[in-house]
Amino acid sequence: MNPRINSQRITPASSALIPFLPEFRDCRSLIEAAGTAARILTEELGAAGAIVLDENGPVAARPTNLDAPVIAELSTAPSGISAGVTATPLAGHTIAGYPIRNSGGMRLTAAWGPQVALRTDEVRSTASILAEWIHQFGQEDGGGRTRLRGIPARDLNQDDFTDLIETIPAIVYLAEMGESGRWRYVSPQIESVLGYTPEEWMADPNNWFHALHPDDRDYALAFEDQRLIGLDIHPPAEYRLKARDGHYVWMFERARLLPDKDGSPIWHGVMQDISALKSAEVELAQKAEQQLLVARLGDMAVRGEDPDELLRTAASWIGRLDRVLEASIWEQEDYERLHLCHRSADIGQQTVIPFLTSTFPGAPLIKGEPVLIPNWNQQDPRLDPYRDVLPENVMSSAITPILGADQQFGLIIVHSDRAGAFTEEDGNFLLATANVLGNAIERTRSDQSLHYRLNHDLLTELPNRRLFTSRLADAMEAAERDGTMVGLLFLDLDHFKLINDGIGHHAGDEMLREVAPRLSRSVRRSDTVSRFGGDEFGIVLSSVADEAEAWEIAERILAEISQPIAVEGTERLITASVGITVWQPGVDSVVGPEDLIQEADAAMYQAKEAGRARAHMFGAAIQEKMVRRLEVERELHRAIERDELAVAYQPMIDLGSGNLVGFEALVRWRHPDKGLVQPGDFIPIAEESELIRKVDTWVIRQAIAQATEWNRGRPAGRGISISVNSSTRQVRGEGFTDLVSGLLERHDFPPELLTIELTETVLLAGTRQVNTVLEGLKRLGVRLALDDFGTGFSSLSYLGEFPLDEIKIDRKFIDYLGVGDPRGSAIANAIVQIGRSLSMTVVAEAVSSETTLQMVRDLGCHAAQGYLIAKPLWTPDATALIERQDPLYAF
Ligand code: C2E
Ligand code: MG
Ligand code: MG
Repeated sequence: MNPRINSQRITPASSALIPFLPEFRDCRSLIEAAGTAARILTEELGAAGAIVLDENGPVAARPTNLDAPVIAELSTAPSGISAGVTATPLAGHTIAGYPIRNSGGMRLTAAWGPQVALRTDEVRSTASILAEWIHQFGQEDGGGRTRLRGIPARDLNQDDFTDLIETIPAIVYLAEMGESGRWRYVSPQIESVLGYTPEEWMADPNNWFHALHPDDRDYALAFEDQRLIGLDIHPPAEYRLKARDGHYVWMFERARLLPDKDGSPIWHGVMQDISALKSAEVELAQKAEQQLLVARLGDMAVRGEDPDELLRTAASWIGRLDRVLEASIWEQEDYERLHLCHRSADIGQQTVIPFLTSTFPGAPLIKGEPVLIPNWNQQDPRLDPYRDVLPENVMSSAITPILGADQQFGLIIVHSDRAGAFTEEDGNFLLATANVLGNAIERTRSDQSLHYRLNHDLLTELPNRRLFTSRLADAMEAAERDGTMVGLLFLDLDHFKLINDGIGHHAGDEMLREVAPRLSRSVRRSDTVSRFGGDEFGIVLSSVADEAEAWEIAERILAEISQPIAVEGTERLITASVGITVWQPGVDSVVGPEDLIQEADAAMYQAKEAGRARAHMFGAAIQEKMVRRLEVERELHRAIERDELAVAYQPMIDLGSGNLVGFEALVRWRHPDKGLVQPGDFIPIAEESELIRKVDTWVIRQAIAQATEWNRGRPAGRGISISVNSSTRQVRGEGFTDLVSGLLERHDFPPELLTIELTETVLLAGTRQVNTVLEGLKRLGVRLALDDFGTGFSSLSYLGEFPLDEIKIDRKFIDYLGVGDPRGSAIANAIVQIGRSLSMTVVAEAVSSETTLQMVRDLGCHAAQGYLIAKPLWTPDATALIERQDPLYAF
């Protein structure tokens, strides 16, 4: 076989025609073959019309309904490519016409419309195929009929073979066996496929082996087996061969081992370039892989995976895709800088990169579009700001924004070491991934806001008690581990109710919002400032050296708070009371955070008692008190069951007549060990829990029962009234009105003889809620008194809002009167005037001297009570007092 083939005669073959070759082979006449050619061009390859003609005119024309003028125009079109003539049916069309070799002057012509891709190569190939058909099978018999003849290959002359081989869109070869078998022949198509001329290819028998892709070698060599000789086995092989310029070409090879005349096995083969098919396959596989990746990420997101984990996974998965050198995810705080979150490989050192809105690639990213940078080496000034931060070896990149509902979270950046590695499809894939991530982040942000709300006080934005307690627990754990100490401050604003009720809740809120940053400013970042609710704040000092350091911080806070605060345009002054406790692991016996909070709370209480606007350190004295409190609480439960409580009655006189008007019931505790315990020692403790309701209920039952006794047989208008003290919990607790009405009914007791003494804290609960209870009591006909008036926070004007019958001026003001303090007497005077103007009975408490008695009388008080008149009495003494007919006091 002559390897030298006349390359002048090569006809570019179009692979698009390969599928139709069998149709030509099956044609029984030249006319049939011509018709097939025209049909393929029109039906399969988009031509508007195609004809085959010889010197006498058209032999075949398609489509079959082609107009005569069109056929005429196609028939007269020149060889090569021309345009359809203006104002003819082919105007705007492009016409391609080629002669059919060996046919004695036949031509093939086809026309394509303006919207359809021109297929001139295919026209040319079809003409070649027709030439080949005539050559192989056909011989005009003169009557337009073709006589079929099979021409044995060996009968073909050299030119025939050359034509045949060079028309096939494949490389035809003959080669000896083995990885370095000598090539005996290779057809010239090898040059257009691999870039080697046949001579160059055959010069070195190792060329084939060297060109084999390393990954495909084993597979390709598996067929180099003597046993295949002569068998009808032509293993189809797909493998990559490296072209001369270095790129790989996918080859599809079919070959058969046949012995030559000397008996040596020779490969007779055909190699086809299937790179286009392969890359379509690869693209498809990649697309499937990308779709799978998006689906899996979506699945993770739906299952509520932590978004950071999602970002990490996305970076790592994208990084593993073909062509990707590195995938990274960046978070942006603003539109100036991006911070690295995750990267799949460590090719870059940068963790912060610029994000420039005005220049590419920033601009499309802001619009939510992906950006492809096909080649970083291209001269583009817009890329310059990024070159410095670009990792080495990066040739091309794809970037896509991660968007939330109303905000951009960051970017996905993917690099490749190949130029033009990323297509628009890849951009879309990244966008789909970014959507999954964006949605996940968005969702957890709203979850987070729920989480935030659970853990923060929304007024001040400080951590709430819940978060505070967990931080405190963390700090305690850390202290235990590191051998340090934890400090805890419990802060309560002084007289805050005065602001809240006096100026209004808005003002109160504003003040709390002002106080919060002052507290935060006074501590370190590692400390936690929290609002517990109301005007109470807690501060964890995560690590303090000693008590002195905690003291210092408390003092700093007190100083900060005492600076004037602008509230609704007015500067106001406020102080706070701070309780301090310091916990040293291993030394202090405290078990949990709640215990520590209780200690600080107790210390704060001490600070209040000591006069407010100060700090107090939790210490042995307080601790003892706390222990005692717990003890009292436990014992008091028992006391009620064991009937250890008793009631003393303190008389009250009318300041006009000096007559006894009634008694105040005051509870006492006959403690089996401690003897008689005064209410001051157990009532405040009982008030911290529902225990106080048991006490109050017990007292009111006793008192009404006793007063019923006293009033038996007394004339109307001369009844003995009874006053009972009711704590806030009791009044606001469920069923209080029912309790009272039940007792009145049971004893048939005149309601106007019962006075319920309330403290001002009851009124602080809010007008509407309290009024419901108070009005219920009023409907029963019971009298209501405000006890200890002046010690709480109720302003005088406030009084009118509640259905009160009586105010009892606190002992403090009465004492002022006694010592001649002009301010005290002015206040007492004001209280009396207000009370009288509101038609209330004004009672002076704890009158203990003649002078004060005279003074309260002069001020206009209606009634008085105090040691001067009588101390609280046991029932027999009180009964004796009632039985005396004369006034208790003579003015
Ligand atoms: P209160 O309701 O203001 O009762 C008046 C207190 O002043 C009584 O103290 C009484 O003994 C005392 N007192 C009366 N006259 C004088 C005086 O001239 N000089 C001085 N220094 N004190 C005088 P007591 O009995 O120790 O009660 C203390 C507080 O305990 C009461 O103050 C009341 O708030 C509370 N309390 C007493 N019994 C009950 C009760 O059954 N339930 C509730 N919730 N609280 C009660
Ligand atoms: Mg009282
Ligand atoms: Mg009182």
